[in-house]
Amino acid sequence: ANDKPYVVYHVLDTLLNAGFEAYLVGGCVRDKLLGLTPGDYDVATNALPDQVQSLFPHTVPTGIQHGTVSVLEDGERIEVTTFRREGVYKDARRPSEVRFDASLQEDLARRDFTINAMAQDRFGNLFDPFGGQSDLEQQIIRAVGDPSARFQEDALRMLRAVRFSAVLGFQIESETWRSIIQHAPIIGRIARERIRDEWNKMVCADLSLGVDQLIRSGLFSFIFGSILSRTKEEWLRAAQFADRLPKKLDLRHAALLLGTDVRLVQKWMNQIRQPKRLTRSVVAILEAMPDSNPLRWSPFDWRQFLYQHGQHAAEQAILIYSQMIPVDADKLIAVCLASIEDQPIWSLADLAVTGHDILKHTGRRPGPWLGPLLNQLAQLVLTNPNLNRSQELKHAAEHFLQKGSL
Ligand code: ATP
Ligand code: MG
Repeated sequence: ANDKPYVVYHVLDTLLNAGFEAYLVGGCVRDKLLGLTPGDYDVATNALPDQVQSLFPHTVPTGIQHGTVSVLEDGERIEVTTFRREGVYKDARRPSEVRFDASLQEDLARRDFTINAMAQDRFGNLFDPFGGQSDLEQQIIRAVGDPSARFQEDALRMLRAVRFSAVLGFQIESETWRSIIQHAPIIGRIARERIRDEWNKMVCADLSLGVDQLIRSGLFSFIFGSILSRTKEEWLRAAQFADRLPKKLDLRHAALLLGTDVRLVQKWMNQIRQPKRLTRSVVAILEAMPDSNPLRWSPFDWRQFLYQHGQHAAEQAILIYSQMIPVDADKLIAVCLASIEDQPIWSLADLAVTGHDILKHTGRRPGPWLGPLLNQLAQLVLTNPNLNRSQELKHAAEHFLQKGSL
C-alpha cells in the first residue's frame, strides 16, 4: 500500500512542469471515489518512456514495451505509463502491437470496465468519458464499449469482471454478463498465472459471490477442470463456509478445500500455478484439522498437537474448526491461545539440552541412536513440561540408554 500520497502528486507535478499531460488513472481513481485508500497509484502521461526516465532520478523499466516505467521516490513506487492504444489482438490474449501516439481519451477506452476507465488530474478534476462515476454509484461492473469485442480481445477481462464484483460487492451489468456466459470457453487460452492472480483476489473477498458467478457463467469449469469431483452445490457451500474466516489466502483455501484428499489439493493448486509456499501451508493446515472436538482434549493432547503441526498450521486449523462449532467458537480459540502460551517446546531446538550436551554427558560416540533419544526426551517434556531442564533431561537420557530401549 502507498502510505505517501504526496509522492504521486510530486510525480504528476514533475511531468506537468516539463510540459507533459499527466493524470491519475484506473484503480486508484476508482478507490478514491469510493473513499478507499488506493493500494497503488497509476499515472498516465503523453511523455514517452525515455522522457519519463530522464525526468526522475530513480526509475525501473518495469514494462517498457508496454510503455510502463516505475518511478521510485521516498520508498514508494509509482507506475507511469505512456498513453496507449492497442493494435489488433491476436487469440484473445495480447495486443499484437502497442502504439504510443494516443490521447487520454483513447487510453481510457482501452481499459476494461467503466469504473476503471476514469482519470483525475492534479487538481482533482475527473475525466469520465464512459460513465464510470454513475456506475460506481449504482454499483455496476460494465465493460467499456462492446463487451463481446472486449472479451475476445482479452478473455481475462471476464474473470476480472467477476473478481471486481466479488471485491466490491457490485452487480455485473446484464449485457456484460450475457457476453461472459457466451465467451466463457475462451478463458482457457489465458495464462494460468494471470488467472491465479484474479482468483486469489476473489478468495480474499466475497468468495461465495465469486464462486457463484464463476459457476453460473460457466467460467468455473474452464478454470478449475475436474481434479476435484465436487458438485456445484458442494463448491458453493464450501465457499460460504470459507467466507466466515478472515481474509487470508492459506486459511481460506484450506477452509474451501476442507474434506478433500491432500494429494488432490496439491495437484489442484499446482495446476492453477499457486506458489509452492502457499500450497505447503494449505496442506499443513488441512493435515492439522482435528478429527475430534479439541474442547475435549487434555493439556497433553494440546501439547502433542501443537508440537506436531507447528503454531501457524495448528492455529489456522483450530480457527477453521471453531467455525464448525459456532456456539463454542470463542471458547475453543481461547483454549488454543492459552495452550500456545504454555507450550514448552515447538521443536527439538527448544529442549534444555542439545545433542552435543548428551554426547558430552554420556561420553558416547555420535550415532543413529541420538535422534530417537532426543525425540524421546521431547515426548517426555510434552508429557511433563516441568522436566525441560538440563539436569533432568541428562538423567532421563541416561535412564533411557540404560533401559536399552535405543
Ligand atoms: P486493484 O485494486 O486490484 O489493483 P486495479 O483496478 O488497480 O485493481 P489492476 O489489475 O492493477 O487493477 O489494473 C490497473 C488498471 O489497468 C485497471 O484499473 C484498468 O484500468 C487497467 N487494466 C488492467 N487489466 C486490464 C485488462 N486486462 N484489460 C483492460 N484494462 C485493464
Ligand atoms: Mg492496481
